[in-house]
Amino acid sequence: MDKKLANELLTQWEEMGDSHISVKRETPLREDAFAMDDALKIELIAKHFKEIMHVLGLDLTDESLQGTPLRVAKMYVNEHFKGLDPKNRPEPTLFENNYKYAEMLVEKNIQFHSTCEHHFVPIYGFAHVAYISSGKVIGLSKLNRIVDYFARRPQVQERMTVQVAEELKQVLGTQDVAVIIDAKHMCVASRGIKDSHSSTVTSSFHGKFLDMATRSELLKYIGS
Ligand SMILES: [Zn+2]
Repeated sequence: MDKKLANELLTQWEEMGDSHISVKRETPLREDAFAMDDALKIELIAKHFKEIMHVLGLDLTDESLQGTPLRVAKMYVNEHFKGLDPKNRPEPTLFENNYKYAEMLVEKNIQFHSTCEHHFVPIYGFAHVAYISSGKVIGLSKLNRIVDYFARRPQVQERMTVQVAEELKQVLGTQDVAVIIDAKHMCVASRGIKDSHSSTVTSSFHGKFLDMATRSELLKYIGS
């Protein structure tokens, strides 16, 4: 590739990242994403993170820094990015809707922590999810777990919103699902434009939630 083209591509990627543009619904994973086990991933990430710290000029023999590469590697694999691995996908427990409750159910203010895939810094905020039962209901804590699963990976807020909605539709066997996410992006707060007050709201409405009356009932419940 010639240098001019390479530079143009780099600029284009940088702009896409800074604008947080992503077009695919699926998290872009390679075919062989889970060919390595977690222990090997931790070992390799620790090695590379140590290298990053070294390049920054940090003294890795210092007591305070010695444990950092392994600590970061464990945090990435076991916590921040554990939602990449389908083995951690929450098994939904569904119950019969014995009360024949046919109104919407709203679980609001589900706190989540995610990571911007363009800058690898935190995105955090609240998700509000709602559905209208088609005969099955889901344990309330499972809604939190589904949000957490899709948050625990390098993410783009719009994609996370759609992924949670699609999962709920599939698990609950209904189209009548709504997801609203209100989040702060550390990459906006601490770098670039340095705006620590703004938050980003995204939504994904399906089925009966496309209907204005149903949608405004939901917005009334979540108070926005
Ligand atoms: Zn970012």
